[in-house]
Amino acid sequence: MTAAPAAFPPSAGAGPGPETLEAVRGDLGECTRCKLHAGRTTLVFGVGSPSADLVFVGEAPGRDEDRQGIPFVGRAGQLLTRIIASIGLSRDEVYIANVIKCRPPNNRNPEPGEVATCEPFLFRQLDVIQPRVVVALGAFAVRTLLDTDQAISRLRGRVFDYRGAKLVPTFHPAFLLRSPERKRDVWEDMKRVRALLAGPSSAP
Ligand code: SF4
Repeated sequence: MTAAPAAFPPSAGAGPGPETLEAVRGDLGECTRCKLHAGRTTLVFGVGSPSADLVFVGEAPGRDEDRQGIPFVGRAGQLLTRIIASIGLSRDEVYIANVIKCRPPNNRNPEPGEVATCEPFLFRQLDVIQPRVVVALGAFAVRTLLDTDQAISRLRGRVFDYRGAKLVPTFHPAFLLRSPERKRDVWEDMKRVRALLAGPSSAP
């Protein structure tokens, strides 16, 4: 009896070899794991360098992101691009993603069950990329990633250890559009990020 031919390409987790962003994306597929799939136009996975030292994580796609399948487009995204440029980097040199990959209806906050279902895919992305610094954008991303109820005002200005990286909380660009007086705080945070990137690597 002839053995059945082995499947190729192997699915993620089916064999040895390093995890890749493509494998994570492939596992997501046309994801229906939580109810947010029903309202999405496009699943927003993440963009940028798969070996970025710096990763930005926001909350969830908004209307423009949902349409284009790219995180942080629109006015807030343009501001994020300028924030990235302020420390001498481009969007192509960093990685940008969200805690949640499908747009919540009316941009409501994602529910705990939705976070618990979707967040493991972000963790896998971070584990592939192995950034040195993660910038959490906005109260929701900061509290979710740090698993805390503390106000962002108590958390920003500090640096946290996070999955082998340093996590820097800062304000969401959409908040800055409404409260431009807080841009100075974000600039201070980005100087902190720049110093962390310029410092010695903590990698073994
Ligand atoms: S939000 Fe995440 S878990 Fe929910 S359907 Fe979209 S990709 Fe799947």
